[in-house]
Amino acid sequence: MSYVEPIVQAFNSLPLLAFGSAALFGLVIGSFLNVVIFRLPGMLGLVEPAAATAAGETWSLATPPSRCPACGHRLPWHQNIPVVSYLALRGRCAGCARVIPIRYPVVELLTAGLATLCLWRFQLTPAGLFAFVFCALLLVITYIDLDTFIVPDRLTLPGIWLGLGINAFALFTAAEDAILGAIVGYGVLGLINGLYKLVARREGIGRGDWKLAALIGAWLGLEGIITTLICAFALGGLLGLGLMLAAGRGPRTALPFGPFLAVGGAIALLVGADLMGWYMSLIVGP
Ligand SMILES: [Zn+2]
Repeated sequence: MSYVEPIVQAFNSLPLLAFGSAALFGLVIGSFLNVVIFRLPGMLGLVEPAAATAAGETWSLATPPSRCPACGHRLPWHQNIPVVSYLALRGRCAGCARVIPIRYPVVELLTAGLATLCLWRFQLTPAGLFAFVFCALLLVITYIDLDTFIVPDRLTLPGIWLGLGINAFALFTAAEDAILGAIVGYGVLGLINGLYKLVARREGIGRGDWKLAALIGAWLGLEGIITTLICAFALGGLLGLGLMLAAGRGPRTALPFGPFLAVGGAIALLVGADLMGWYMSLIVGP
């Protein structure tokens, strides 16, 4: 490891190079996350595969090559560059001129932003790399939940084990704190759902969300999952209230809860300690 250290130190001491490379790395990974968000629900049978899929074709994250879901136009490499191609094509498919959803460059830019934030918070360290893995996982789960109202086990279960695994080496928190965080995340949402069911006689928070909370607890520990839950309920409550007021919709409007947990988890990871300090100072005084 001794020859790696000077390189890492030099990298960390050149902020422009470091943040620039992190952003570029994020754009490339973001482009792959788009593929996961678009294909995984179909691969898991959560939705019908896109119409442009030929019958009998096997779908994986690697095949078939990227193409327009409307006309099947295959993307040559120069039309497959994150953000740049979207701008060069002015947001339209080169084959059929159909509008390319703005979501593709948005996911790429969000991933780039998260990569730079992880570098800012943790520098180029194992914690920084795993923080980015955590954020990328939350981003994919957010979009899949928005699309399908499902938080797939295929993502949450490996995520829980990975979180417990890295914290066996105390990467973000102590191992026992990670176990406690996972149990509390799963348990609190399960309990709230149980109480809600008693009163409202229907499910309030789905099991996928309990597992997502267990994942966040496994990565960030007890304090992290508490920060996450407070943020998620605050954001969800505000947005739900806003939607009700704006559209005159009743309280029965279903909102997926996963995205709020994911945003809360990213906040807890990146600024959680500062945020909780500020919050506690509001309650008990400085
Ligand atoms: Zn097309």
